[in-house]
Amino acid sequence: MSKVMIHPSTYENVRQAVDRAFEIFPVELKGKKVLIKPNVLRSSRAEEGIVTNPAVLRAVVEKVETMKPASIIVGDNPGLFNYGANEESFRSAGLIEAAKGYYQNIGNDSRKVDFNPAFLPTVNVSRAVLDADIVISLPKFKTHGLTVMTGAIKNSYGILPGAQKAWLHKESGGPVRFQEILVDVFRLRVPDLFIMDAVVGMEGNGPASPDLRDIGLILASDNAVAMDAVVATMMGCEPGRLRTLQKARECGLGDYDLSTIEVIGELKPLPDFKLPPFSGEVLLHNEAIQTLIHNRVIMRPHADPDLCTGCGTCIDQCAVSALSMGDDNIPRVDADTCISCFCCQELCPEKAITLK
Ligand code: SF4
Ligand code: SF4
Repeated sequence: MSKVMIHPSTYENVRQAVDRAFEIFPVELKGKKVLIKPNVLRSSRAEEGIVTNPAVLRAVVEKVETMKPASIIVGDNPGLFNYGANEESFRSAGLIEAAKGYYQNIGNDSRKVDFNPAFLPTVNVSRAVLDADIVISLPKFKTHGLTVMTGAIKNSYGILPGAQKAWLHKESGGPVRFQEILVDVFRLRVPDLFIMDAVVGMEGNGPASPDLRDIGLILASDNAVAMDAVVATMMGCEPGRLRTLQKARECGLGDYDLSTIEVIGELKPLPDFKLPPFSGEVLLHNEAIQTLIHNRVIMRPHADPDLCTGCGTCIDQCAVSALSMGDDNIPRVDADTCISCFCCQELCPEKAITLK
């Protein structure tokens, strides 16, 4: 039976929850090469709640240090085109300082591994991930417009450096297949322990929404499927409706049925939790709506002129060149080209992009 720890915590006393997580889920780290992977979506300030909070990272690093590993690396591949932005993404949120000298740009070195031939025959995975004896994943409790939630499984998408993530977004062609790809990536190197920052979570139009939610919890598990099932339940979303969890169960990675999960702590749904506005968990099972999505009828990015600074980041980073700058210095989307990958929304530094 899988276990998930739910432990009350603030950022000030997070070490207690981290210690408890290691008690419940003991891992032998002595003499091992340890990779600690926070969720670093992009450059942001810690208080924006977009990335794993530095207090959580620091507590995990300090705990791991006491366990005498051979080496520690703290790293992630932020966003979809992180060339040159890796260090800045960590620095802006205080994560380099929290990493206590163990930060490394893991996007600079990778190794090719076999993947799903339906999408890409091979992908490059950060060498630091593949070389690690132990991988500790530090996801963030957040919603996500494309996958409803972003949690333990999706945090592993960051083991892919560079533009591969965008290619896979593009090749997936829609939310259901994209969620299956997430599991395919996750399977390339299943982490050994998950410690989730749910002290401050995100609801609404994630993964870079301004709607933060004080939750006051740290979650931990050695099984991502169980952890994500608990998170979905807290969000008010029935876990079995998420294609990510269905596929993960089909692959033998765990079970999302709560009767198979021992919850250590109190599991209760968060009242009036705001899921993404277009109700992704409903869309995921409706083939007719899937076809509509694929036919580019719904869900298009829209830049808010009051927030957009005309920086052009979204245009540069759209994998299929669906965005162009209008005469008013506000980006416009070509609906026939856009594949609804939401990458522009994730990466807009002004949070100016909504989905309509
Ligand atoms: S990234 Fe955001 S702020 Fe920059 S041009 Fe695009 S919508 Fe505007
Ligand atoms: S416009 Fe945005 S949502 Fe559409 S394909 Fe480009 S990055 Fe993806």
